[in-house]
Amino acid sequence: MPHPDRQIAELTARVAELEAERAQTLRLARTDSLTGLLNRGAFTAALAERLAAARARAETVALFVIDLDRFKHLNDTLGHQAGDLLLAEIGARLDRSAKAGDLTARLGGDEFAVVTSGADVQRQAEALAAALGQPHSIYGRAVAPGASIGVAVFPTDAADAADLQRFADMALYRVKTGGGRRWSVFDAELRAESERRRTLEAELRRAIPAGEIEPWFQPVVEAADGRIVGVEVLARWRHPEQGLLSPAAFVPMAEELGLIGRIDEAVFEAACARAAPWVKRGLIELVSCNVSPRDLVDPGFSRKLIGRLAQTDLPASALTVEITETFLLQDLGLARRHIERLAAKGVQIALDDFGTGYSNLRALMHLPIQTVKLDRSLIADVARNPRVSRLVGSMLHTARALGVSIVAEGVEDEGQALFLRAAGCDRMQGYLFARPMPAEAMEARLLAEALPGTAPRRRVAG
Ligand code: C2E
Ligand code: CA
Ligand code: CA
Repeated sequence: MPHPDRQIAELTARVAELEAERAQTLRLARTDSLTGLLNRGAFTAALAERLAAARARAETVALFVIDLDRFKHLNDTLGHQAGDLLLAEIGARLDRSAKAGDLTARLGGDEFAVVTSGADVQRQAEALAAALGQPHSIYGRAVAPGASIGVAVFPTDAADAADLQRFADMALYRVKTGGGRRWSVFDAELRAESERRRTLEAELRRAIPAGEIEPWFQPVVEAADGRIVGVEVLARWRHPEQGLLSPAAFVPMAEELGLIGRIDEAVFEAACARAAPWVKRGLIELVSCNVSPRDLVDPGFSRKLIGRLAQTDLPASALTVEITETFLLQDLGLARRHIERLAAKGVQIALDDFGTGYSNLRALMHLPIQTVKLDRSLIADVARNPRVSRLVGSMLHTARALGVSIVAEGVEDEGQALFLRAAGCDRMQGYLFARPMPAEAMEARLLAEALPGTAPRRRVAG
């Protein structure tokens, strides 16, 4: 039996070891492994603490959010390791320039944050931009990605951490989209925009139950003869004061606010009610609905959609659900389960905006995707730019080899239609045939085309 003193000493040492381990674990949980800066979670907590302390001492605090320019390009051309080195180097620079009490964090990807005194923010932003603009030596190569910086000040601009981050992000966004200056401070113009957004947010929440979100329809035509075979459902917001708003004005906001699921539901229900009779009467075969990548991370998404579909007169086989490639970035397991569940019910799946992002044809081999929609940015140049025509030609070729059908979007002129048809594209959609229209106009058009002896409005010459 060891002496009790020795036992106590051993125990004390063991406890100290465990505590050191715990501290290390905590530190690791708080830091970003690449840069050693705070990670997003730890940063959010530290910022709240920092603001509470500043409030007690009546101090001002500035938040600088930093986003590297061209990082993706560097990462793609120099490789991920070089990208990691660059991020670590940026982290080290931020750390070196920080004063005691400052917070430095990597918020994710190539986004960083610095929290410091709220005095003289213009000069601080200038200095930060200059420091970050210095070239870095990565594997002996001078690399200068440059950085965009957005700034907001507590309590002058924002009264809490959430607003402070939102406002600094708005300032950053202005730099990113405005070009020119490397940094921007939240100001009266951005405040007015933020108020407008807040109002629009409140109105959007009200608009859904009020039935202001309505489905519009754009025909999808057979490439061979221009016959309308289906419709794509596109959401419109009939705003009481601002008139008709297109998705660009509210879908991104709805995604941010977590309202997109309810919008998609409302649009889906209204669209089925209008379009199911068209399918029943043989006027069209297909109704195509858009879903947000956000929907695919909702565990109940497919079950709810199937339930709702069962309450309509639309057969599952006439429904196409359009998903974008961004879902590949998310929880693929969950997205795959939704896709497979829908496919098992006979619902078709289309991959939307193909050619804008990852264009991962491989995903098609492992998922029950029947249709690919070629993005209109590709179609715009297809008849003019030989490289784009070759690219689209080979996409069509690959898709055919995989047994996937192709819908070209945004077909605006005969030249594009001719090329696409010759290259073996199955279906087309675009202003050449028809713009999106309300249900009544769509119905009138379908009925007119169904009249005996009536040729399709627009045949594609060949
Ligand atoms: P998308 O799914 O790629 O829809 C096609 C967009 O291209 C539509 O814009 C359509 O009006 C437009 N378009 C069609 N033909 C042409 C053409 O020939 N030329 C040009 N320049 N544009 C054409 P819209 O209606 O503004 O919708 C924009 C996007 O909003 C849609 O892109 C879709 O991603 C999203 N969206 C629309 N409705 C919904 C919805 O109910 N739910 C969700 N989650 N997203 C929706
Ligand atoms: Ca679409
Ligand atoms: Ca599209």
